[in-house]
Amino acid sequence: MAGFTPSLENLIDKFARLPSIGRKSAQRLAFYLLSMPQAEVDSFIDSINTARSQVHRCSVCCNFTDSDICSICSSKERDRSTICVVEDPRDIAAFEKTHEYSGLYHVLHGVISPMNDINPEDLCIKELLARLGSGEVKEVIMATNPTVEGEATSIYISKLIKPLGINVSRLAYGVPMGADLEYTDEFTLIRAMEGRKSL
Ligand SMILES: [Zn+2]
Repeated sequence: MAGFTPSLENLIDKFARLPSIGRKSAQRLAFYLLSMPQAEVDSFIDSINTARSQVHRCSVCCNFTDSDICSICSSKERDRSTICVVEDPRDIAAFEKTHEYSGLYHVLHGVISPMNDINPEDLCIKELLARLGSGEVKEVIMATNPTVEGEATSIYISKLIKPLGINVSRLAYGVPMGADLEYTDEFTLIRAMEGRKSL
């Protein structure tokens, strides 16, 4: 689109590629960036580069962490007999905000979705199964989103776990079908966790 000098147009274009950012918002962000003091811009760029180079998957639960093992997996305070399985690291933040769950987590990084060519081997399922051999884990709570893919993934994984003699449960959804756990209020999440049902 004409109207801006090429380097500014390029910056707007980069912002517009980010999720949920339309052309108008991209322009606003680009103009704001131009008005920022150089030190703040440098610090912003530095934060992006640091996050990109430091953040990786926890070698146990696949949550994002700066260290080899995340703070939840390495905590002595957590109940190590229960693992809550979620789609996305942001779901962990939602559960942690409730202060009601003291077990461990496992992040799948997606759900099985043949239409989008996402198969079981694309998710962190083998990492989950590797955690279940020690006899320490007594219950796995499937907390994938209440969507068709979330349900199918939950059933698929529960079939792999049940032969190991470990209880598998599913969140009780007062959470409406199609909802996103990340945006579910804390009270509903607590109810969903308390009312979970065996699979
Ligand atoms: Zn971890």
